[in-house]
Amino acid sequence: MTQTQTSKLLKGATGDWEMVIGLEVHAQVTSNAKLFSGASTAFGGDPNAHVSLVDAAMPGMLPVINAECVAQAVRTGLGLKARINLRSTFDRKNYFYPDLPQGYQISQYKSPIVGEGEVTVDLRDGDSITVGIERLHLEQDAGKSLHDQHPTMSLVDLNRSGVALMEIVSKPDIRSSEEARAYVTKLRTILRYLGTCDGDMEKGNLRADVNVSVRRPGEPFGTRCEIKNVNSIRFIGQAIEYEARRQIGVLEDGGVIEQETRLFDAVKGETRSMRSKEEAHDYRYFPDPDLLPLELTQDYVDDLAAALPELPDQKKARFIADFGLTPYDASVLVGERESADFYEAVLGALEDRARDGKLAANWVINELFGRLNKEGMEIAASPVSAAQLAAIVGLIGEGTISGKIAKDLFEIVWSEGGDPRALVEARGMKQVTDMGAIEKVVDAVIAANPDKVAQAKAKPTMIGWFVGQVMKASGGKANPQAVNDLLKDRLGL
Ligand code: ADP
Ligand code: MG
Repeated sequence: MTQTQTSKLLKGATGDWEMVIGLEVHAQVTSNAKLFSGASTAFGGDPNAHVSLVDAAMPGMLPVINAECVAQAVRTGLGLKARINLRSTFDRKNYFYPDLPQGYQISQYKSPIVGEGEVTVDLRDGDSITVGIERLHLEQDAGKSLHDQHPTMSLVDLNRSGVALMEIVSKPDIRSSEEARAYVTKLRTILRYLGTCDGDMEKGNLRADVNVSVRRPGEPFGTRCEIKNVNSIRFIGQAIEYEARRQIGVLEDGGVIEQETRLFDAVKGETRSMRSKEEAHDYRYFPDPDLLPLELTQDYVDDLAAALPELPDQKKARFIADFGLTPYDASVLVGERESADFYEAVLGALEDRARDGKLAANWVINELFGRLNKEGMEIAASPVSAAQLAAIVGLIGEGTISGKIAKDLFEIVWSEGGDPRALVEARGMKQVTDMGAIEKVVDAVIAANPDKVAQAKAKPTMIGWFVGQVMKASGGKANPQAVNDLLKDRLGL
């Protein structure tokens, strides 16, 4: 434990420093309509094509809460093992911006819909950490100012205005850029399993405000800076590394860190000051008089809980328990819902799941994903279906073909398609388990290599060479176990 802890520390000129990181993730709620209006949330429409009178903040318009967005927030809270607050309220967060026609954002301040929870984060070395969730609240997105459409004017597109966001605030439990990246990756996976946010960072549907401070190990937390709106997992890592180094430089030069809001410049790989940090009271939060408190019943929450899909942690545990997968392989499979679904489809098509489940995982990860990666293809476009892969794995499991022949078979199915079992018959790829046939080959190899036979008697590991020769002579079709047994017998090993 001390090992991993010390390895996370940063070396400064005057000693070690520790990073402290907390993330505020903004996740766009998957919903057809906006949080308080019926306008569409579709991406990429003509500017101002999806704007209702409410979204444009016309005088006298009243917000009406979208029940689906509420359900999505509750589902997400449940997926984060968080407390669901049966009573929450909406507040106005007042500020001026050209893309905010209301002059305030409707958000949740004192009483959010979801309270404390936690996320288990898997790290690359097989370890895992728990990151606490402080809260999750619902709020409106703003519109977008466009500065590059006209030589002298800025234009405003309100299509996003009023779209529902979930702000998911972590506790300051994160201690390295790797942990931060793994946390966002895991959070994104959970949201995608739940179907509450598509996690598309390129479209800005998931983005993070990254809070970073540094301290001497064991000291109280230092002053933090908040890096706004970072929209890729790689950039989150880069922004943290840069910002922590910058703060260490300032402190070691005898300076102090001012709490401020900063911007990450992805081209230069650095953070820049944007403005000094605003405080909650700057926003003059007050309860929105247009909206009643949101009251949920426990039955409503229980119904949503009962209908939740299996989440990645549960799925991972099940794959390990039922099929003996390694934690690493199980993590790879559950990391994307599409991968897990594919593996489940293979399991569903296997004739003997208990026997072949683990082998199927190896084939999905190493052969199929490896090949898809090489071709730059998505799993949805895989030319080898789950049923075909299950058939190949079944043929290995029952001993009809060897693993080596199976790779050839996979290639054929990949490029030509077809029923694996029929292909094995038609092309004579069956493994030879007929002992008589194998014996003939073994005896021929032994007879042709008297010098190696003598060597093998002195050095029993030489048997590997003989196995290789026999396999080659049989075109890879001899059963390797039978070959091994027979050779031991003939060579007297
Ligand atoms: P605010 O409301 O001003 O944004 P919060 O207390 O809600 O402040 O914290 C916002 C985020 O900053 C949270 O994710 C929290 O974990 C993180 N955070 C708080 N203190 C620190 C600190 N000293 N260093 C790094 N992150 C911090
Ligand atoms: Mg905040």
